[in-house]
Amino acid sequence: MTPTRQSSFRLFRLWGIDVHVHWSWFVVAFYSISTRVPNYAAPVWGVLEYLVLFLIVLLHEFGHALACRQVGGSADQIVLWPLGGVAYVAPPSRPGATLWSIAAGPLVNVALVPVFIGIFYAVRAAGVLNQNPDLHAFLRAIIWMNVSLLAFNLLPVYPLDGGQILRSLLWYPLGKARSLMAATVIGFIGGVGLAAFAVWLRSPWIGIMTFFLSSNCWRSFQSAQALRKIEQLPRRSEFACPVCHASPPIGNFWQCPQCRQPFDAFATGAQCPHCSATLELTPCPDCGTARGQRSWDASIRDV
Ligand SMILES: [Zn+2]
Ligand SMILES: [Zn+2]
Ligand SMILES: [Zn+2]
Repeated sequence: MTPTRQSSFRLFRLWGIDVHVHWSWFVVAFYSISTRVPNYAAPVWGVLEYLVLFLIVLLHEFGHALACRQVGGSADQIVLWPLGGVAYVAPPSRPGATLWSIAAGPLVNVALVPVFIGIFYAVRAAGVLNQNPDLHAFLRAIIWMNVSLLAFNLLPVYPLDGGQILRSLLWYPLGKARSLMAATVIGFIGGVGLAAFAVWLRSPWIGIMTFFLSSNCWRSFQSAQALRKIEQLPRRSEFACPVCHASPPIGNFWQCPQCRQPFDAFATGAQCPHCSATLELTPCPDCGTARGQRSWDASIRDV
């Protein structure tokens, strides 16, 4: 239940990052603009308010994407859809790199707070606010939107940014798998709170959001369990992943690209024992990056 390339179209490309808009965004934009328009004497302010919301979300996602690149990860796509934006980022599998990639999004909103407040006071000092109540309402609305987006994103409900920041911090003492497990359990508790809040506010919007977050949280909990199993396997210490430095587990965890049968790539020198096909790049079960097996040799490390 995440937006995909297939159901969205490309708006533009900036710094090598494709910005896509999901089709459903237009349906919700129409609804959302129609609820904003009555707040103003001139309807154009309602449209403008929604466009600024769109811009704030976009800047937030660019924060994630650019920070992820900065620490050596990959990020090439942002999709905007009714529940906000999704930056498809793959930071290196280290707590610090993940923490920075996640924290950079909310930090954009933090940086926007003085910008918007500054604009508000500058416009007020110029004396235009009194004659233009629409402009006044508009500026107040964007300050409020930015702050509410920031506050919502920082809730510790995995996979919201707050939940992912919590996970990255727990990664230091608990390790990759257990930190994800702890963050998703906290996420479920937060999800229950959010569901109660949705009922209390009678907000179908927060309800849909909670459902989306909780189902995502559940999938991440399952992958934490899978990660935990991998972490506990016996290892081949003569090899180490060139990216995360974890030694590969002993067992049939690699799939032959030709006959599709599982085999132990480090027992056979990356050659399939069934059909003799070679696995050109050996993926790391711990961090997911795939490198040639030559670079996995632990003895050539730090040479
Ligand atoms: Zn974010
Ligand atoms: Zn690795
Ligand atoms: Zn094979």
